[in-house]
Amino acid sequence: MNPEQSDEWAPVDGCDICERVHDSNRVSVIDTEHFATAISPRYPWGVTINAKQHKEGLWALSDDEASELGRLLARLSGAIHATGSERVYMASFGEEHSVHFHMILLSRWEPYSVAAHQALYDRAEKTPPQPAETDRFVSAVREYLHT
Ligand SMILES: [Zn+2]
Repeated sequence: MNPEQSDEWAPVDGCDICERVHDSNRVSVIDTEHFATAISPRYPWGVTINAKQHKEGLWALSDDEASELGRLLARLSGAIHATGSERVYMASFGEEHSVHFHMILLSRWEPYSVAAHQALYDRAEKTPPQPAETDRFVSAVREYLHT
């Protein structure tokens, strides 16, 4: 699969996110200029948000795409909250689909929250506080944001 083959709205052979986006049976709640949503019968408590173009991750979005995604996240999380979900979770991993950004909004499910928090705490527990690493990280992020 070559991400250079991707145009505005054409599927790229071999990409299962493209297959999802272009599936004629895809159940969508809203599509926008840059993003297509999907709800799977396997996950009837979550909405996947898929970039229509191949993008490596959030960092690769244009200003227009990022603005649209921000508005979409607020609207979709409001809609999920209105279904009775106390909280709305966001997740984007993408390790298996590194060229096609997608993320999911999920209605609250306590085991997921507990597992995610535990993974965070486990990672923190396995490494002692690292002031020098914190300084390096802060400097690197600030440099990226302000250059
Ligand atoms: Zn794709």
